[in-house]
Amino acid sequence: MITDSALMNTYARQDVAFTGGEGAWLVDERGERYLDFSSGIGVTSLGHGHPAVVGALMEQAGRLWHCSNNVRIPLQELAARRLVDHSFAEKVFFCNSGGEAMEAALKLARYTQKKLGNPDRWRTIVFEGAFHGRTLATVTAGGQPKYTGGFEPLVDGFDRARFNDLASVEALIGPQTAAIMLEPIMGEGGVRVAEPAFMQGLRGLCDRHGLLLILDEVQTGIGRTGRLFAHEGQFAGTGMRPDIVATAKGLGAGFPVGACLAVGPAATAFTPGVHGTTFGGNPLAMAVAGAVLDQVLAPGFLTRVQEVGELLERRLRNLQAAFPALIQEVRGRGLMRGLRLIVPPPDLVRAALAQRLLLVGAGDNTVRLLPPLIIGEAEVELAVEKLFQALRTLT
Ligand SMILES: *Cc1c(COP(=O)(O)O)cnc(C)c1O
Repeated sequence: MITDSALMNTYARQDVAFTGGEGAWLVDERGERYLDFSSGIGVTSLGHGHPAVVGALMEQAGRLWHCSNNVRIPLQELAARRLVDHSFAEKVFFCNSGGEAMEAALKLARYTQKKLGNPDRWRTIVFEGAFHGRTLATVTAGGQPKYTGGFEPLVDGFDRARFNDLASVEALIGPQTAAIMLEPIMGEGGVRVAEPAFMQGLRGLCDRHGLLLILDEVQTGIGRTGRLFAHEGQFAGTGMRPDIVATAKGLGAGFPVGACLAVGPAATAFTPGVHGTTFGGNPLAMAVAGAVLDQVLAPGFLTRVQEVGELLERRLRNLQAAFPALIQEVRGRGLMRGLRLIVPPPDLVRAALAQRLLLVGAGDNTVRLLPPLIIGEAEVELAVEKLFQALRTLT
């Protein structure tokens, strides 16, 4: 391990470095192979070195990387059209990261309320245990002391309710409330799934009080749960939809790109000059995002994510039955799964790493399993075998 690093000390890194990867596998400096059930925290949605995505990037790299948003970018138009055609949304704004997509969503909610003639509505109801990014506004929105401590004074305008507790939300709605914002499945917060009745209740509250429903699908979006967006599952059969959705992680499959999608008044609130980005939606990013969407929207792709996700869930429930003193609960949807543990999560992450299996820690005493969406049944079985061995070392 390098001890005299020139890097700022922002991560307690595991002592492993990767030099290559293929599909669900990573290779370290010594040539050891690891099964990647972290996907770089839900990012490499198509695994490592996906030929279609590599091809799109290489081709665009030789053509044109960047031009400003002061000119038309046909690839950006195309990617937006793809997202709109396959989602609730009418319009898209592209940026470079999840935090930026969330900033855009928050600014858009305030701006839309102003345009609707409600200048006093600027506060957002958020949730205990949430995670929305590391900018000053988004750490405030997340509100976890481990991320906000030392950065005070924080951004004003957030009121905090309890997840899956509709009454706690209703009690916070006031004349200044502009929006309600949540992750349909908390990622960093421990793979806690918002119950469909709760999500639908929030939509009802928004309709009744003139609020915008913002969903943070930075981690859950782009196929992670077996739907293009996770809320499609929670709203299924109701005709309900969010007003604003932020997404990012899986959209570039490893290339930095984010997006803020909107419908209704929020879709048309922004006008030239109001919001912007230098890098967001540049041709290189859009070529990659377009190639990712080609794969994720291909017939049968999302159905397969659901099927493999259900296999993973069944196997995790078997593990829970085998290790009741270690695993308290199996959580999640699709290929976003969590194990709520009785032992400290870093212990299992470390034990799994020793078995050459990469997991991701999370809050609420949980570890996350976020394999690439292209994972096969055999790789699920192998991961579960490695997990079994890792859990055995913790008994
Ligand atoms: C990762 C994440 C973010 C922040 O994304 P960055 O790209 O790190 O800025 C925001 N919200 C959720 C739910 C996330 O998982």
